[in-house]
Amino acid sequence: MLHILLHFIVPLIIARVFYRKKWKSAFLILIATMIVDADHLLADPVYNANRCSIGFHPLHTVWAIVIYILMFLVPYYFKSAKLSEIEEKWNRRIQLAGLGLLIHMILDGLDCLI
Ligand SMILES: [Zn+2]
Repeated sequence: MLHILLHFIVPLIIARVFYRKKWKSAFLILIATMIVDADHLLADPVYNANRCSIGFHPLHTVWAIVIYILMFLVPYYFKSAKLSEIEEKWNRRIQLAGLGLLIHMILDGLDCLI
């Protein structure tokens, strides 16, 4: 139960601290990344409290995590490019989604340590 609570509390804290003006939309994007747990539906049983998700479910593998890191870095690739307002907005959204996914992986990873 604490695990699920952390999936809401940590994104909320990050949204409030780092995205002060737009914390609500940042928080929504961060928690929307929980959809990544849809890959649990491929597992049998779907839920197992004692299972380490990292490296087990397809969207929780190292390769998936590399993509999440690249997503987080998107705004840095275009740092010197002149972007339209819409492009900037999408860069931020992709970065936030990457951040949400990385937070998710870290929280799931904590379960593997216990
Ligand atoms: Zn997960």
